[in-house]
Amino acid sequence: MNKSLRKAVIAGNWKMNKTPSETTALINEMKPLVANADCDVVVCVPYVDLQAALDATKGSNIKVGAENCHWGKSGAFTGEISTQMLTEMGVEYVIIGHSERRTYFGETNVTVQKRVRAALDAGLKVILCVGEYLEQREQGVTFEVVSEQTKIALGGVSKDELKNIIIAYEPVWAIGTGKTATAEQANEVNHAIREVIAKLYDKAAADAFVVQYGGSMNAGNADELLAQEDVDGGLIGGASLKAKDFSEIVKAASK
Ligand code: PEP
Repeated sequence: MNKSLRKAVIAGNWKMNKTPSETTALINEMKPLVANADCDVVVCVPYVDLQAALDATKGSNIKVGAENCHWGKSGAFTGEISTQMLTEMGVEYVIIGHSERRTYFGETNVTVQKRVRAALDAGLKVILCVGEYLEQREQGVTFEVVSEQTKIALGGVSKDELKNIIIAYEPVWAIGTGKTATAEQANEVNHAIREVIAKLYDKAAADAFVVQYGGSMNAGNADELLAQEDVDGGLIGGASLKAKDFSEIVKAASK
């Protein structure tokens, strides 16, 4: 497995934070701090902030993503947003299957698969989230859970389409809790995900595939996490809401 074959991706997940005007201000603060990044930099923001984010990032190295999308093209799905709505705006990325969607909004492996399919068909780049609950880790079934989530989400995805997907391994017990997985725990599960990719596709596909870690990554622990062989970047919640903290993580990924 050769880390140098992969370009790290640092993506912020703003969740339900920031208004449009706050979005403009935060991105303007971030831009000079991440301008020299040697990794891909993405901010995934609430739907209503997308236009402000697209305007503020114009001409910069920061890409914009949404935090979810629906699988339908249009129709009677009150409150949902289609992939075409996103691409027409110029949005490039979308997070799918975040544990907060799975836990609070009834997202399942099957609906995740449908959203992944729709996003790829529309030409979006997918940040697919997988990860175990604390009880599952304690029960010793982490690899099974993550492997099942990965396999089902990638059902029907061709080898060529893999270039438009990255996976974020996010242990649910580490999200927003300040409790980070150790670098070894993160690397071990990221490695297992890469092995699932190798089995589903082949070794070359797995070697080229970006697997991020997410879960309380911050300026203080990013160096160690991102130095791991199988950790190719991060999905960052809390620390992505502060320009300086986010840029420190981007710097760590650029080493
Ligand atoms: C996330 O929401 O994807 C996340 C990793 O959050 P945090 O960094 O706050 O744990």
